[in-house]
Amino acid sequence: MQVKGSKEIRAGVLDSGLCTGCGACVSLCPYYATHKGKTVMHFSCTREEGRCHAHCPRAEVNLDRISSQFFGEEYSASPFGSYINIHSARAGDKAGVSGFQTAGTVSALIKFALEKGYIDSAVLTKNEEGFGVPFVIDNPGDVEKASGSRYSVSPTVKGVNDAINSGRRKIGAVGTPCQTLAVAQLRGNPLKQEGFTDPIALSIGLFCTWALTASDFTALMKSMGDISTIRKLDIPPPPASSMEIETGNKSYIIPLDDIRKLIPEACSYCHDMTAEFADISVGVYEGKTKQNIAIIRTERGRKIFEEAVNAGYLETEKIPEEAIAPLAAASMNKKKKGLGKLAGANLINSETGHTVIRMKKSTLESILKGGASCC
Ligand SMILES: Cc1cc2nc3c(=O)[nH]c(=O)nc-3n(C[C@H](O)[C@H](O)[C@H](O)COP(=O)(O)OP(=O)(O)OC[C@H]3O[C@@H](n4cnc5c(N)ncnc54)[C@H](O)[C@@H]3O)c2cc1C
Ligand code: SF4
Ligand code: SF4
Repeated sequence: MQVKGSKEIRAGVLDSGLCTGCGACVSLCPYYATHKGKTVMHFSCTREEGRCHAHCPRAEVNLDRISSQFFGEEYSASPFGSYINIHSARAGDKAGVSGFQTAGTVSALIKFALEKGYIDSAVLTKNEEGFGVPFVIDNPGDVEKASGSRYSVSPTVKGVNDAINSGRRKIGAVGTPCQTLAVAQLRGNPLKQEGFTDPIALSIGLFCTWALTASDFTALMKSMGDISTIRKLDIPPPPASSMEIETGNKSYIIPLDDIRKLIPEACSYCHDMTAEFADISVGVYEGKTKQNIAIIRTERGRKIFEEAVNAGYLETEKIPEEAIAPLAAASMNKKKKGLGKLAGANLINSETGHTVIRMKKSTLESILKGGASCC
């Protein structure tokens, strides 16, 4: 991995339509800022190697190195990346959470981890005037203030940097796959800083197919009325093909074809659907509205998940293999599309110019041909 500086971020990421708006480069120095879901660089600095480049999920991400670091094995061609097991889960009564998006597994896990001291703070994403913004909490009672999904691009990892800057350690971070990848880069101490200790005690990833350009999506919402009255915003799994919005006294259905026009180009290069570098990844269980699918990836994730189940914060059910197959197919499809597009633009293992991903050539070829089976 070759760490570079802000000049390369400007040319290779910001000006090339690759920026995911994750916020990982913001709050590290005075040069970057985020406004209404968009990351901007005021000036380039003269550093040859910067944390902005080292943590960016769109600059020199070495999948084999990160995978070896977290899972003790190279990145493979499997649909979900490395994992220990997969469960169907939902928030249990003991968690006492409400207002969640799918079945409350994420909110319940964060609340449990805060109450039991596995984490001392958490970086979540709340809604502020229609935009997703980072929300750093220290109190389990604040988890529900950020429950539910903000479907617009949100600079959540700025919140992780803010939490670290304020001296917080044992942080819990919740994020989409691009945000989780940036957090994984940060955890790997790519600049080999002396005395570094991993500030992240629990990383929870959300499944993600795409997000929406924040300013366009907020404008669409505002065109429907007062966005402060939105109670629920959901994209039901197929065969439904719409976004459902409930406000104080009305409900709206927007065809997904209209919503898809608001997806930023950056998402079309994305190969990760299930947040492959989280401790636990959580998403929708297609066909079961009151359940999440949870992929347990690390020993740390397994311990916290199992203890949350034993304490009644989570309820789980066995998940049959055939229920995982549609997710595996969707995930593999996203890998093929994202990595295929990156490869077509010479952004994988490039010897000259900007590289987004470094990975074994044989693994890339295997994924582009269809990858390995899931279970
Ligand atoms: C942009 C986006 C796209 C998604 N696409 C899919 C998909 O294609 N398939 C699928 O199965 N699931 C998808 N999800 C995940 C899904 O919406 C739920 O978050 C997941 O099922 C967990 O449900 P829950 O009830 O446990 O979440 P909750 O308990 O409601 O917790 C949700 C957590 O998500 C965090 N959050 C909300 N918005 C954001 C954001 N923009 N960035 C980072 N964190 C955020 C909140 O802080 C909260 O902690 C997506 C989520 C987002 C944010
Ligand atoms: S770190 Fe995130 S926000 Fe910053 S340039 Fe990279 S992708 Fe964009
Ligand atoms: S599709 Fe990928 S790049 Fe876009 S928001 Fe989701 S994880 Fe980030």
